[in-house]
Amino acid sequence: MKIANIGILFDQSAAERKKRYGINSFGRYLGEILAHAGITYRWITEIRDLNRRDTDLVLVAAAEDGEAHSTVLWEFANQGGAVISYGGLRSMASALGCLPAAPLGVGYAAANDPGARPEPLRFLRAEPWIVTGGAMKAEASGALRRSRPDGEEAGALLHRFRVGAGLIERWAVDAAETIVHMQQGAAPVLRDGIPAADGTGNVNEGILKADDEVFFDWELDRAETETGGKYFAVPQADLWRELIVRRIIRTAEGLGWTVPFLGLWPEGTRHVACISHDSDHNQDEHAESTLKLLEETGIRSTWCMLEPGYSTVVYEQVKKAGHELAFHYNALEMQGGRWDRHEFERQLEWLRSAAGIRDVTSNKNHYTRFEGWGELFAWCEANGIAVDQTRGPSKKGNVGFLFGTCHPYVPISWFDEGNRFYRTMEIGFLTQDMDLDHWADSSIVIPFLEEAAKVDGVAHFLFHQVHIHTKEKVREAFRKVVREARSRGFEFWTTRQISEWERARRKARIGGTNGRGEIVVEGAPAGAVLWIPSPDAAAGTEGVELRYGIPCRKQSVAADGRAATGLPANQVMGE
Ligand SMILES: [Zn+2]
Repeated sequence: MKIANIGILFDQSAAERKKRYGINSFGRYLGEILAHAGITYRWITEIRDLNRRDTDLVLVAAAEDGEAHSTVLWEFANQGGAVISYGGLRSMASALGCLPAAPLGVGYAAANDPGARPEPLRFLRAEPWIVTGGAMKAEASGALRRSRPDGEEAGALLHRFRVGAGLIERWAVDAAETIVHMQQGAAPVLRDGIPAADGTGNVNEGILKADDEVFFDWELDRAETETGGKYFAVPQADLWRELIVRRIIRTAEGLGWTVPFLGLWPEGTRHVACISHDSDHNQDEHAESTLKLLEETGIRSTWCMLEPGYSTVVYEQVKKAGHELAFHYNALEMQGGRWDRHEFERQLEWLRSAAGIRDVTSNKNHYTRFEGWGELFAWCEANGIAVDQTRGPSKKGNVGFLFGTCHPYVPISWFDEGNRFYRTMEIGFLTQDMDLDHWADSSIVIPFLEEAAKVDGVAHFLFHQVHIHTKEKVREAFRKVVREARSRGFEFWTTRQISEWERARRKARIGGTNGRGEIVVEGAPAGAVLWIPSPDAAAGTEGVELRYGIPCRKQSVAADGRAATGLPANQVMGE
C-alpha cells in the first residue's frame, strides 16, 4: 500500500493577515499533533505550492476562506487528493451543498465512532453546517451538543464530501485550537480563576497560577473517586488528538493509502510514570528520608530545588543515586519571589552553583505560579531548560487532567510571537502528595494510572520531601503509586529521560519501502517501533495491536536508521 504523503497547509500570508488583527492561528498546532503522533509530514507555507505531485492528504491549518484558496483546495481534491479542514471552508459551503448555521459557543462533541473513545469532548466553539442537498452527497458523522455533554443536539461533528477522484472532510470544530486552549489555558493568566462552587477548588486566592485559566467546567468535567474525591477525569485534549489521527488514518485508507507512525515509547516499554519532588522547606533531613524511600522502592526521580536548597553533601547523594536535579523557580511574592526573567535567571544561577551542575534540564514553578501565556516557556528555552512541569493542580479539587493531557507536549506561542513553537516541552503533573487533609486522597492513584495507560501518556505524581519525611501516610501513598504502577506495566522515568526520548523520536522520518517490503525509517533512536495500520489484521495476533482503535502491525526499527531517498522535508516541532 502506498504511504500517504501528508502536508499541512499553513499559508503564511493568511496567518499574517489574522495576526494584524490580533487573531491567533492555532491551526498550526496540527504540526505538533502529528509530530507527537510520530507521523511524517511536510509544511506547505504558500497555497500555490499545494499539488498532487508531492501531497496526497492535506490538513488545512491556515488558509484564506475565500474563492482563491477554495478553488485550489477543490482542484486538489478533484485530482484525487484528500482535504481536511477543521472549522473552515465557509466559502465552499454552497458548492458542497451546505448552509453554514449559527455558530455555537461552548459545547461537547461525540464522535459516535465505535473505534473511538465514547466520552463527549468539550469544545470552545463550533461552526456547524446544515446539508441542503443538491448534487453533492454529504456523509455526516458525530454529533455536537450545546453547552453540556447531554445538551440539545446541534448538528454533525463533521461532513465528508466526494469531490472528483478525491474528497473533502470538514469538521465543525477547530480541534487544534481546542487542544491548545485545553493544554495552555482558555486565555493568558491575567487574573484569578473561577473557584469551584463546592469549595474544593479555591483558585481565587490572589496568587496567579497555571490553574487560574482552565478550559474545563467544575460541574461537567469532574468525576468522583470511590471516596468521593473530585477530579478532572478525562484527558480530553489527548482524546481530541486521537480523534484527529484516527480520522487521518481512516481517510487515507479509504483512498488506498497508509499512514504508518512511530510508537510513543520504545520497544518493551508499555507505560511511563514520573515522580518529581519540590524541595520547599529545604531541610536536609527531608531529603534524607526521601532518598531512603526512593532506595527502598527502586525509583529514580526528578528533584526540583527551591532556593536556598539543601547542603552540598545532599546534592552529591542525589546525583550518586541517579536522580535528576531540577529547578523550582520561586515567583511567590509573599516569599520574596518575583515574576521576572532576571529573577528567574538569578535563581537558576544559584542552583547551578549550589548543586554544582552545568545543565539544568527541567523546571517546575513553586506553587504552580504562572502568568500570561508563553513567557515562562521563553525563559526556559533561553536558558537551556528542556522541560517545564508547572502546569498541574494547586488545589485538592482540581487534580487530574485539568489541562486535558498527560502527554509531553510542545507549547505554542500567542500571536504576538507569531504562534511559534517553543523549544521547551511541558510535562504536567496530575496531583501533589495525597492523603493530607488539603490534598486528594490516594483513591485517585488507580484512576490516574488507568487513564494515563489508556492514552499512552505519562502518569506524573508530585511528592514534597517535607511530607515524605513527616507523614507516614504520604510515604504509604508513594508506595501505593509505585506498587500499582508497576503491576500495570509502568516504568518510572525522570523528566530528562522523557524529554530525551521524545526529542530523539521526533527526528525520525518515515519514507518509502525497501527491497524486503519494509517501510524505511530514517534517523530513528534505538528501540523505536513503527506501527503500520492493518485494518484486516486481527488485534491480538502476533505483532498486531490496536492503536487509535485500529489494528496495527508492529515493525521494529533499526537503531541507525536505514538509507532512504526522496523523504519529504519534515519539520520537527520545537527543534
Ligand atoms: Zn514548591
